[in-house]
Amino acid sequence: MGLTMRKLAGGARVPHRKWTSEAAIVKMGVPARVIIPMVQHIGAPCEPIVKKGDTVLVGQILGDTGQYVSAPIHSSVSGTVANVGQMLYPGGGRVTSVEIATDGLQRPHESVRPQTYADKKDFLGLVRASGLVGLGGAGFPGHVKLNPPPGASIDCLIVNGAECEPYITSDYRFILENARSIVSGIKLLQSVLGIPKTYVGIEDNKPAAIKLMEEMTADDRNIEIVTLRSLYPQGAEKMLIYSCTGRRVPPGKLPADVGAVVMNVNSVSLIAEFMETGMPLVKKIVTVSGNAVKKPMNLEVVIGTPLRDVFAFCGGFTTTPEKILMGGPMMGIAQFSLDVPVIKNTNAALAFDVKDAKPAPETGCIRCGKCVDNCPMQLLPLFINSAAVKGDAERLKRFHVMDCIECGTCVYNCPAKRRIVQSARLGKDILRNLAAAEKKGGRANA
Ligand code: SF4
Ligand code: SF4
Repeated sequence: MGLTMRKLAGGARVPHRKWTSEAAIVKMGVPARVIIPMVQHIGAPCEPIVKKGDTVLVGQILGDTGQYVSAPIHSSVSGTVANVGQMLYPGGGRVTSVEIATDGLQRPHESVRPQTYADKKDFLGLVRASGLVGLGGAGFPGHVKLNPPPGASIDCLIVNGAECEPYITSDYRFILENARSIVSGIKLLQSVLGIPKTYVGIEDNKPAAIKLMEEMTADDRNIEIVTLRSLYPQGAEKMLIYSCTGRRVPPGKLPADVGAVVMNVNSVSLIAEFMETGMPLVKKIVTVSGNAVKKPMNLEVVIGTPLRDVFAFCGGFTTTPEKILMGGPMMGIAQFSLDVPVIKNTNAALAFDVKDAKPAPETGCIRCGKCVDNCPMQLLPLFINSAAVKGDAERLKRFHVMDCIECGTCVYNCPAKRRIVQSARLGKDILRNLAAAEKKGGRANA
């Protein structure tokens, strides 16, 4: 057993509120309609390759792109394409999506069959074909993560079993109910990609998951289960790498630059399952919770299921919710419609009443320094806040706003409740727009 008490620089002791820890995963079944957006990952959006009226089957490709940094998107159901067009999307606004009227039969596509590969290149091609993207939140394509850039090599796989956001227990339940498949995925990645060591990081508030994974890997000295402190944001990529290995990823660098690749427990399991059965990424485990939900649960949901159906399956609301979140309360995205669908990186759907949703009023910064003490990226959040409010691009660069992981730890600890995460997002937009304008200007002058 590995036990790390490596202390994160910063972080927050957020309340856990893991009400669904003991709630076994329930299969929700197929809704009448699903909406499958063509944007579910970082990178190039997919182009739909089906049209209205087409019959589709489970596992069939609905959209793809020739771009490397992208991943195909598959049908999670069998049925008929009802519409292809602009539809609401959990990231905000509307994106091209495929709406399918389901037939309830869940007939699989002919491509869903056991996969074979000759070498590492073939294997990575199959990882892309599985539609895998980072399932812990960011949505980075899996085949890109596993293929380090020239000059970098991976000597350790870090499997993320930390689930540090309050309320969310989907990964915890997944470990308890799918440990065998997680271990198969780890062994497969180790052997095909030649990765000598794997660390599985799980926080110390999940002793049953730690015990089970230790038992399942007891015969393999190359897999180490690391017990992590229960501290937010322990599951953030750079924090996890440091907690498991002691390696620090420098600002602006990637995990591959320190020889590491981080994958969620669901991701390694999906790779094993895809090679065995050929079924791509078409379903997600979602924690449905919050004080406005009648029956908080962990659900297995087909991708594309509208939030309306998800909450209805959990008995609906105890009151009109004041706030609906896709994701946890620290990093989740507020939703203004229940028509948005569950997508590949959805791990929670939360609903809160006015008591739990109302933000504390923002007051003036009192220069207490708590945000600085607690920022896990060792930034100066108060200065990012003021630079963004003033639109000062030079200072935003100087204070490394692009390194902010938008974890919200600074806001959680701030007595003035400064809107620092929103400022950081604004600051990033300012710098991105500036860079785009400079590039355009450079091209015009060339
Ligand atoms: S924690 Fe809030 S009040 Fe204190 S210095 Fe930071 S922004 Fe200002
Ligand atoms: S949101 Fe950004 S600035 Fe605030 S604590 Fe997290 S990394 Fe630091």
